Amino acid sequence: MQYDPIEKSAVSKLKVKPGLADYERARKSFSWWDVYRELDWLPGGGLNKAYEAIDRHVAHGNGSRVAMIWEGKNGEQEQYTYTQLKERSDRFANVVTKLGLKKGDRVFIFLDRVPELYFAFFGVLKAGGIVGPLFSAFGPDPVRDRLVDSGATILITSPDLKRKITRILPDCPDLQHIVIINKGNRDPKPLEGNDLSYEKLMSAAAADFKIVNTSQYDYSIMHYTSGTTGKPKGAVHRHQAVVQQYLTGKWALDMHPGDIYWCTADPGWVTGTSYGMLAPWTNGVTQLIYEGGLSARKWYQLIEKHQVNIWYTAPTAIRMLMRAGDEPMKGINFSSLRFIASVGEPLNPEGVIWGKRVFGMGIHDNWWQTETGAIMCANYQSMEIRPGSMGRPLPGIEMGILDDKYNPVGPDIRGLLAVRPGWPSQFHNYWRNADMYNSRFKKGWYITGDRAAMDKDGYFWFEGRADDVINTAGHLVGPFEVESALIEHPAVAEAGVIGKPDPIAMEVVKAFVSLKPGHEPTPELRAELMRFARQKLSSAVAPREIDFVPSLPKTRSGKIMRRLLKARELGLPEGDTSTLEED
Ligand code: ATP
Ligand code: MG
Repeated sequence: MQYDPIEKSAVSKLKVKPGLADYERARKSFSWWDVYRELDWLPGGGLNKAYEAIDRHVAHGNGSRVAMIWEGKNGEQEQYTYTQLKERSDRFANVVTKLGLKKGDRVFIFLDRVPELYFAFFGVLKAGGIVGPLFSAFGPDPVRDRLVDSGATILITSPDLKRKITRILPDCPDLQHIVIINKGNRDPKPLEGNDLSYEKLMSAAAADFKIVNTSQYDYSIMHYTSGTTGKPKGAVHRHQAVVQQYLTGKWALDMHPGDIYWCTADPGWVTGTSYGMLAPWTNGVTQLIYEGGLSARKWYQLIEKHQVNIWYTAPTAIRMLMRAGDEPMKGINFSSLRFIASVGEPLNPEGVIWGKRVFGMGIHDNWWQTETGAIMCANYQSMEIRPGSMGRPLPGIEMGILDDKYNPVGPDIRGLLAVRPGWPSQFHNYWRNADMYNSRFKKGWYITGDRAAMDKDGYFWFEGRADDVINTAGHLVGPFEVESALIEHPAVAEAGVIGKPDPIAMEVVKAFVSLKPGHEPTPELRAELMRFARQKLSSAVAPREIDFVPSLPKTRSGKIMRRLLKARELGLPEGDTSTLEED
């Protein structure tokens, strides 16, 4: 492969290999300015994510590399080079500029994972807009909430998705234009009302665009959080986040030019933009994008067919693949895989062990959140994976564990997981909710809302979300450790654990368990699971009650919604369920 401006860089000399000593050295000599030097500033002195991800490669003579391999849900296949991505995003930047988009205006995209979603996304960034992708499985109400809250002026969608939300459109007073993308003429009906045809606008637009001179501090993307703990918040990110997205792609996901990379997250969630667009493309890799949903056989076939080297997925997907068993992988050759990583929820140690058996390699857990914009802490390729741990902070990032008064505590003590503010991909506000934003900063730390502990080697261990931690007879219990113990049992597919109020113990641990196919929810199995959990955990921590459920309530991004399990158990209002996945 001829593309290699990065490998010769000062940054690559710091590459975190091959062990803890090198990691420590990298931490000590690290400077974000070395990373900035890898990127190009705009001629006007600014910084723009779209330029770094796409145009930079064309400017460096690497435009003919394949950026995207797309497989549609109906088996269609398309492929785009960096030059083609540049041309299409330039055209779309012209389209939105002509529609009157000004710097800082919000443009929302409500689409399936089709290539045009990506062209539009980068076109809006080039034109200086703030782009907000929405997960296409949302129903009308979550779409309305986000369009109204963000004050989006342009919506980009498809004919069928527009039909789904028609009734809420009159509730969105700021919306001025609806651009309809009719991918492959899938829905050949005439346009409605004032709707605009993407295809017509694109063919009328010039193929070249001079990127708006955004500063690194200008807003670029807004993402609503997953809604796991409450009403989703609109986290706003700046162009400067690209610096960390680039570096973490390289260091935490081990991307090298020439790699084929697959991120299974949808762009409606932050993983699908930070790691489904910005990290891979700033690193010049070829990215597989699959429009369809999770199917064990199909996913395994995609890995083999496209010779995927790096695969970034989520615990919910891993648990579903584990549940599907070995049958779907029959005859599949996984030898192209070199690195597998996971994010979104704690990765149960059982998942790491399964990865080793099935793919011949461990799964690398890493931790971050919508607000952090990029990976903060990871199990690196070069270092031993500690199953159940989310790894060590990226060089340049300081993470700490604090007590309830926001003072740091020593190793192996559980507390609030916090980060020193000032990392490049830090969110810069919750949209129209500065009070909540400000409330997340205490004594010079950003408080993440999660609880964790750090061991003496600096590996971080997730305990749970601060809201989910259970206080039983004076013990603080993280649901994750109980859930992880339960899913080690061969009958258990998934488990969700809550604290149930109790007059004596304050709370008791209660587990909701879904079973793998072929297992029946009998009283004997319940008793066996109780015994099994007591053996793995102390009796204080083991669940006192277990209920069998067909499935657990999850967000559309696949996270177990323990607050719903609890509300249902106690007969309390369910709160915001806009991101609840429907069965
Ligand atoms: P909301 O903030 O609306 O309640 P959310 O926190 O689930 O939703 P995201 O920003 O998508 O929204 O998720 C980030 C959270 O996911 C983290 O704060 C953490 O609780 C959890 N998480 C992500 N990765 C990991 C991981 N590797 N291990 C443990 N937890 C993780
Ligand atoms: Mg959160």
